[in-house]
Amino acid sequence: MSDRYAVIGHPVAHSRSPAIHEAFAAATGQSLQYERLLAPLDGFVETVSAFAAAGGRGANVTVPFKEAAAAWATTLTPRAQSAGAVNTLIRQADGWLGDNTDGVGLCRDLVDNAGWSLVGQRVLLLGAGGAARGVMAPLFEAGIQSLTLANRTLSRAQQLVDQAGFHALTAVDLAALRAPCDTPFDLIINATSASLQGDVPLLHPTVWHAQTGLYDMMYGHRTAFLDWGAAQGIAHRRDGLGMLVEQAAESFWCWRGVRPDTKPVLAQLRASLSSS
Ligand code: NDP
Repeated sequence: MSDRYAVIGHPVAHSRSPAIHEAFAAATGQSLQYERLLAPLDGFVETVSAFAAAGGRGANVTVPFKEAAAAWATTLTPRAQSAGAVNTLIRQADGWLGDNTDGVGLCRDLVDNAGWSLVGQRVLLLGAGGAARGVMAPLFEAGIQSLTLANRTLSRAQQLVDQAGFHALTAVDLAALRAPCDTPFDLIINATSASLQGDVPLLHPTVWHAQTGLYDMMYGHRTAFLDWGAAQGIAHRRDGLGMLVEQAAESFWCWRGVRPDTKPVLAQLRASLSSS
């Protein structure tokens, strides 16, 4: 029987991860099965434990269980430890290693796929959940100048800033960005789940400039946030499909020791989203 992998989330039916990992497996000649596992909101530990007991080799973890996965893993990689969130679980001889591939996925999509430089950029990150936690350190490693973390619940952003300890990292209340801001940002990344409900964090026009890039971690032919950006005249806009494929490729590499070519899989997914 081939090795078993899964994505665990709530909801999970919309996840494209099975299609991505099946495409990676076919392209690299790896034999594996990859399924979706819907965990009850209070049942992540039971679901992941049952998967482990049934011989599962590895799992991706998505909304809202990334912090629970960090607590469940036996050990954490340095990048998962700094994020306090796990999106990739890897079975090892003596337990489960928790990793976080979201940050490397985002940076590869921004730099390699979109061709946007991160060096010296002033970045605004909206949201302070599992996804935001995972990308903060990798953004600094990629050379950004500063990171402002804006969240609806300010205390959550402040806690992340205090824990992370980067000197060019600050927390602000998301609502404060409705007022004029002194210096515009070069890159605005939406890591809130507001788009899932069709909501858009409202930003004052002084928050961006003509060349600012707008990135929505949510993916799809259209997202509420990118539609809003288009209506504001922001030219450089990108959804999170490339991040999804790149973080999956990094998980695949962790599990199988083989690095898949992401370009054809991203092109295929983009085409299927555009036609749906
Ligand atoms: P979490 O549930 O951990 O965090 C959600 C965040 O969104 C919190 O900061 C929350 O604020 C904020 N939020 C929720 N609703 C609203 C709203 N209506 N207005 C303003 N802020 C809101 O989710 P994740 O961090 O795991 O995921 C966030 C998004 O990123 C999701 O859309 C997910 O699909 C996407 N994602 C995409 C990936 C990709 O590969 N493309 C990878 C990972 C995530 P508060 O703290 O105040 O509740």
